[in-house]
Amino acid sequence: MRTVEFERVLKLLGQLSPRQRSRVVEVLRRPHDGDQAAAHLQACFESSPKCPHCGHSRLHRHGQAHGLQRYRCQSCGKTFNALTGTPLARLRHKSKWLTYLQAMLTSQTVRQAAKNTAVHRNTSFRWRHRFLAWIKNDRPSHLHGITEADETYFLESQKGARKLPRPPRKRGGAATKRGLSNEQVCVLVARDRTGQTLDFVTGRGPVSKAQLRQCLPPVLDADVLLVSDANASYRYFAKDVGISHESVNLSASMRVKGAFHVQNVNAYHSRLRQWIERFHGVATHYLPNYLGWRHALDAHRLPTSEAMLLAAIGRFPHLAVT
Ligand SMILES: [Zn+2]
Repeated sequence: MRTVEFERVLKLLGQLSPRQRSRVVEVLRRPHDGDQAAAHLQACFESSPKCPHCGHSRLHRHGQAHGLQRYRCQSCGKTFNALTGTPLARLRHKSKWLTYLQAMLTSQTVRQAAKNTAVHRNTSFRWRHRFLAWIKNDRPSHLHGITEADETYFLESQKGARKLPRPPRKRGGAATKRGLSNEQVCVLVARDRTGQTLDFVTGRGPVSKAQLRQCLPPVLDADVLLVSDANASYRYFAKDVGISHESVNLSASMRVKGAFHVQNVNAYHSRLRQWIERFHGVATHYLPNYLGWRHALDAHRLPTSEAMLLAAIGRFPHLAVT
């Protein structure tokens, strides 16, 4: 507000009745939405302050800007705030972030979220992917014990691209070829029996042994017993890397062999597919962001907009400093 206007408001305050005065006081006491987002980010930063440029922890306060405290590093002399070096740096309208994240918690489309937050839909789209850029890194480091793995496929999409090598599809569209082809992008999902889940976009067409070798060994514990469908790639992969493996033949109605089945991972696929339908086809380029979003919702890892806000700057629940 301009100073002239502010002075006018101050003058008007003098004319309030006692009842009106107490209402104004009540409104001023309420935490402002913008302050809330900034306060959360600030408190999180101050719980373990560190220079984003050099990692030093001795900082001086260095004034305020854009609703956030600025700091100056005593070691490298650079200035920064709680968002420097994160995907949220220089993103505007902090006062609307928590409302926007609430819209994401309820899986609203770009347009719905734009309307409910009162921002332009281009802003809505940009914010969605800025918030998800680091939220998607909230993944378990290792899977243990019986671990189911299976793939699901999404139609390759260049939604939003300016130049397409083929005629555009409408609202997600359908493949032109039947069955698995290079039009389909493979998402490999591995889930252990504690519910820890990892997903990987392996690329176009069916998953290969080489792709399994690339994705799985770094995240599988030595005690893992891998369960898959009858796809031979899994068998060859397990043999190659020397891990225990059981397969179930889904087509020959041998879906369950004792404790061995892929029903948990298939249920995850079906929740994922059902959820992603509302977006009418997502650009393949952004698929990892959507997988991360679904993961956060599915595991109830980020139950509030405040938890989502902190995850967006890389402070995940298990890493949170209390
Ligand atoms: Zn520094």
